[in-house]
Amino acid sequence: MQTTTTTLQRDLRELEEEEPPGTNDTLDRVEEPPSKTAATRRNKLFDYVPETNWNDWKWQFRNRVTSVDELARLIPLSTKEQAQLKLVTTKYPLSVPPYYLSLFDIDNPDDPLRKQALPSFHELGLAGMGVEDPLEEQKDTAVPGLVHRYPDRVLMVLTDLCPMLCRHCTRKREWQYGGWVRTTDEIEAMLDYIRMNRSIRDVIISGGDPLTLSTQRLEQVISELRRIEHVEIIRIGTRFPVVLPQRIDDELCAMLSKYGPLWVNTHFNNSKEITPESARACDRLLRAGVPVNNQAVLLRGVNDTVEEHTRLCQGLLKIKVRPYYLYQCDEVRGTEHLRTPVEAGIRIIEGMRGHTSGLAIPTFVIDLPHGGGKVPLQPDYMLMRKDGELILRNYKYQLFRYRNPNGPRRKKNGHKNNTAARNSTIGQANKRVAVNPV
Ligand code: SF4
Repeated sequence: MQTTTTTLQRDLRELEEEEPPGTNDTLDRVEEPPSKTAATRRNKLFDYVPETNWNDWKWQFRNRVTSVDELARLIPLSTKEQAQLKLVTTKYPLSVPPYYLSLFDIDNPDDPLRKQALPSFHELGLAGMGVEDPLEEQKDTAVPGLVHRYPDRVLMVLTDLCPMLCRHCTRKREWQYGGWVRTTDEIEAMLDYIRMNRSIRDVIISGGDPLTLSTQRLEQVISELRRIEHVEIIRIGTRFPVVLPQRIDDELCAMLSKYGPLWVNTHFNNSKEITPESARACDRLLRAGVPVNNQAVLLRGVNDTVEEHTRLCQGLLKIKVRPYYLYQCDEVRGTEHLRTPVEAGIRIIEGMRGHTSGLAIPTFVIDLPHGGGKVPLQPDYMLMRKDGELILRNYKYQLFRYRNPNGPRRKKNGHKNNTAARNSTIGQANKRVAVNPV
């Protein structure tokens, strides 16, 4: 692939700019991930980029591929494809960091990374399906940028900027028109709201990706949150470890290590994303005392088979990242082509249970429309419940009787508002079991 004069000039300009914020002196100390599926370093597309630039997250961020013309210089695209993609990007923009692009199998139109990163004409073709804000976050917005849905948790969205614009993103509506960062006053209003609501014990700072902010700016927010006595934990939702792992540098880790308990939830969707670079990013976070969980989204052609999902989750355990959630892809306008039937998720969980460590198995959830919250879905292992006995099946479809001990009647439960609803649901389930003999 030929490098254009413009790109070369840009790279030379970059070379003259400031040093990257972090140094790479710890790289050699960190072991390579054991995964055999790990992708390798940058490929021939970017072998002209000096090492210093490649490892500088700001260089990666500034040099995101954001236009179809630029993309067509890097990967084969027919004239028709280019025309279609240009049309799609007028509605849903394109952004892919060089690092993530370097992981593509550029000759494979069905490459699972490409499906997540590059626009598809179906985003417009199936635009009649889905809604802009399926979780109705707007409805639960307490002050601009702050969603308060559950009593003890809030979500802070500080920016709509992300290093990569994922085609399946639930907040496509936020970045569709692009490029805002909350002002100091807006952030102060969010913090005031949290200060005044003593029931809030858990603050999630999430996407747009909060790590697009400078480390200093992020520290201003996190340190203020840490000063609030009733805020017990802080969670950061970020896809940087996956799509631009160079961001997880020493400076960021040193900052985060001061404000624990702090958790990072990241978003690996395919085993090809587990690379030496992403493994190193997660390792750095862990060494800074920041546990890392993964929240994957179930996507057609990306991770919708038992084999791929097992590979992904086993690979995550090898880099010490816990598979936490597998989300059914939300009903977001412009994502229908990537959505799968709910049964696909249940089949994946069923295909993993018993065949790999329980630690590798995420909870499959649907985030209900209209702000109904998350509902976990499992294969049915309890086939019948009658007369103090359960009939259960295992992963090999062998049946087992299980004596169900009588417990003391509970006078009170922790969530009294849900008692009536739960009793009625259990009653219905019992009826269903009774007409379903083994
Ligand atoms: S990084 Fe997260 S918030 Fe940003 S586009 Fe991707 S899925 Fe959406």
